[in-house]
Amino acid sequence: MKQAVDLPGLSKAEVVSFLETIGEPAYRGRQVFAGLQHRRLRSFDEMSDLPTQLRARLNEVARASTLTIESRYVSSDGTRRYLMKTHDNLPVETVFIPEERRDTICFSSQSGCPLQCTFCLTAQLGLLRSLTPAEIVEQIIIALNDAYGVGVKPPRGTNLVAMGAGEPFLNLDALLQALRVMADKDGLFIVPNRVTVSTAGVVPKIRELAKVPERPHLAISLAAPTDELRNELMPINKKWPLAELLSACKDFERTLKPGERFTFEYVMLAGVNDSPEQARQLANLLNRHSLRAKVNLIPHNPAEPLPYRPSSEDTVEEFKSILESKGIHTYVRRPRGRDIFAACGQLAARHSTLLEPQTIGA
Ligand code: SAH
Repeated sequence: MKQAVDLPGLSKAEVVSFLETIGEPAYRGRQVFAGLQHRRLRSFDEMSDLPTQLRARLNEVARASTLTIESRYVSSDGTRRYLMKTHDNLPVETVFIPEERRDTICFSSQSGCPLQCTFCLTAQLGLLRSLTPAEIVEQIIIALNDAYGVGVKPPRGTNLVAMGAGEPFLNLDALLQALRVMADKDGLFIVPNRVTVSTAGVVPKIRELAKVPERPHLAISLAAPTDELRNELMPINKKWPLAELLSACKDFERTLKPGERFTFEYVMLAGVNDSPEQARQLANLLNRHSLRAKVNLIPHNPAEPLPYRPSSEDTVEEFKSILESKGIHTYVRRPRGRDIFAACGQLAARHSTLLEPQTIGA
């Protein structure tokens, strides 16, 4: 038997042609697409506008969902973390972050991660595999359904960040396919302008993204102002050192729309990369490449057994004021969902020990 096709990863036009291959007219394809992406249904049996026979046929040749929800944790600050499993039993994690004016969904691009950043817990899993477009789209559908009810229109805008597990630029084609699917106004209608993709610095892919017409925003994880330290913290730096990374960023900057900026993320590790001298080095590095970027300082989130502590608030403030005195826009990212291990660098398929998991049906 041919392998079942995962419909949540297909665009409207692709769903229509798939339905045509089983002898169905185009409007049936549009109905199925709306069932999956607008009504956010996770099985063909719930698509009551389709004839029973067609639902049965679809169950034979396609899948309306592939991920199952293992557990859900709700933080005291409202952040929700979902631990899901792929059909082949690999962990996928997604975080839903409610904010006053919008919600942010932090999704994973891979199960585990092949990069070996020393401060990130996900690194300890190694790469299990890259996720498919369907698995990326489903994470968003699951989070929205859980937060608001199946198919209920979110009351606020939804922003997406590819900052969960994995290196998105090592799975760029699947990611861009997922973004095309999600942008459809007859579906989730989350356009690339609401999406930010974060990379540890896969230089050729930064250049590739620069050429994509409808592209998401870019964030770069920096974590160190010198090659010496960055080689240690983020081994990917040995392949693409800072000079190459920042020159690719410069090329990317030339393609920004007026007013658009990209972001550098800088995780703050006490006594490792947070001194005033390192703040000056960072500012000089960015200014030397005359980059119009802003910097997000992320206090390190505790992630045992990693040997780091977060920088103190005063240290973070001083670091920020040094950057600002040198003309660099700097923000401090408030950690969300630390109590449920949902914060940056804490995703490693771990069950929370602080809270009883609230298990929900898949
Ligand atoms: N691989 C991509 C996507 C992951 S984004 C990337 O590296 O950009 C995850 C972000 O969280 C990165 O900016 C990383 O620097 C940051 N991070 C990782 N571990 C962290 C930790 N323990 N505390 C705070 N931030 C962390």
